[in-house]
Amino acid sequence: MSSLSTTLIHHPYEAPQGFEAPQQAVHKASTVFFPTVAAMRSREWKDKTAYTYGLHGTPTTYALEERLCTLEGGAQCVLVPSGLAAVALVALSVLKTGDEVLIPDNAYGPNKTLAEGELLAWGISHRYYNAMDPRDLAAKLSPATRLVWVEAAGSVTLEFPDLQALVRLAKAHGALVALDNTWGAGIAFKPFDLEPGAPQALAVDISAHALTKYPSGGGDVLMGSVITRDADLHMQIKLCHMRLGLSVGANDAEMVLRSLPSMVLRYRAHDEATRALAFWAQTQPAFVQVLHPALPDSPGHGFWKALCDRPDGGAACLFSVVLAPHFSQNQVDAFCDALQLFRLGYSWAGPVSLVVPYNLRSMRAQWPAEIAQGTVVRFAVGLEAVSDLQADIAQALQAMR
Ligand SMILES: *Cc1c(COP(=O)(O)O)cnc(C)c1O
Repeated sequence: MSSLSTTLIHHPYEAPQGFEAPQQAVHKASTVFFPTVAAMRSREWKDKTAYTYGLHGTPTTYALEERLCTLEGGAQCVLVPSGLAAVALVALSVLKTGDEVLIPDNAYGPNKTLAEGELLAWGISHRYYNAMDPRDLAAKLSPATRLVWVEAAGSVTLEFPDLQALVRLAKAHGALVALDNTWGAGIAFKPFDLEPGAPQALAVDISAHALTKYPSGGGDVLMGSVITRDADLHMQIKLCHMRLGLSVGANDAEMVLRSLPSMVLRYRAHDEATRALAFWAQTQPAFVQVLHPALPDSPGHGFWKALCDRPDGGAACLFSVVLAPHFSQNQVDAFCDALQLFRLGYSWAGPVSLVVPYNLRSMRAQWPAEIAQGTVVRFAVGLEAVSDLQADIAQALQAMR
């Protein structure tokens, strides 16, 4: 090893052991070294006891996976590049031609789009059910039903379903239950322990989580996780994950690891601010309905109260309003445009408050019985002062009129 470039690559210096600091080291690799050919041939990556290739895990991604399992009460985790990739991985792992997937009509929209696109093209059918009516789920379960999605609260309209009833029905039918747990985030309720203290644990089989939201907390990372408690189911998902070549970047994993310690505090701060604004919004005549599961009039409030209304539970940073139908689309757009602190943009759980107007009619099979007629606008409350956010909504209402 005489030439400078070779020595710079194969350098003999090794830093001393024993470095400890608040943040973990960030391990970056595609290539991982093996000491011998025998080690290379025999090394096992599936059980996370060793390393073979960056795609299959590094100390950084293993650490994040373990912390996320603790957060959600699961046993195994795989990381994927986005929340939507988590939803897609669940479908691709457990569904095959001839199977059917049931999705709540108020689910995260792209979950339905995937079912209408690739899944349908591959001979996997889907039906949408009304999450607020377990009888509707019961009626739609068929011999082909392999997977049932649940989501609490519903995307955009924030209805809180009778989650236990939906899970019980699907499991009694022999279907797998997957939860989109982005809203609850492992804090509002425990997806693998839906009836704490009950003799027989009621649990979802799979929890998919958009880490893009709370675990990132910065509005600057896209990532997702798929968490399970059953080792065989996990292996099925993990092998599909491997075959699809999914992985996440070390810097992104580091960002989420750095944000996790403050996640519970952030969840609570967002929750408190969101409830304050949602309660205030009820006093505004322009809003004919305010949707937030902690409001007694909001759809499914009783189910939210039973499952999440504990000191260590809660509700996320979202509330929606229905603007009275006499406001034109132009007026509603003007209201959203007039907001200064609430920025127009997708996603949530970052520091900046966000707003999105929705066209509910195009999103649902039919107008939901629980939602008043009008235009739905969803607010994602950031970490600004509540009084400033309230004043912002008030001035935008003035501007709209
Ligand atoms: C944001 C979100 C997703 C998707 O996450 P991305 O990282 O943006 O792909 C999935 N489900 C829910 C409920 C979400 O809010």
